[in-house]
Amino acid sequence: MPSEASTTASPLLLLPLPALDGLSQEQVRGAACIWCGVRLVTTTAVDLGERRHRRLDGVYSTFPRACRGCAGEAAVRALRDHAGQCEQCVDDASLCEIRTALEPIAREGR
Ligand SMILES: [Zn+2]
Ligand SMILES: [Zn+2]
Repeated sequence: MPSEASTTASPLLLLPLPALDGLSQEQVRGAACIWCGVRLVTTTAVDLGERRHRRLDGVYSTFPRACRGCAGEAAVRALRDHAGQCEQCVDDASLCEIRTALEPIAREGR
């Protein structure tokens, strides 16, 4: 995995997250996995990027994180959903940027 920051948006931003309602403060703050609620340490946490949320009084950001297992499962689900909707994948999946971005995350989660 390249260690330099890439100029393109993180593929992790493509992963759909659960609704914030019903999550603990720790999950919303990124101290615990957004999916399973396990406490995270920086070495194992997967950063899911800045997420903007709309509220009646404006927009606010959260910086959710996940454990590797959950991030991997989410990537597998996202790939499955993606395959049904992407013209590029029907045409030639190896050229699809979204697919090639999500696949390593899906593999790491296994
Ligand atoms: Zn988790
Ligand atoms: Zn695709």
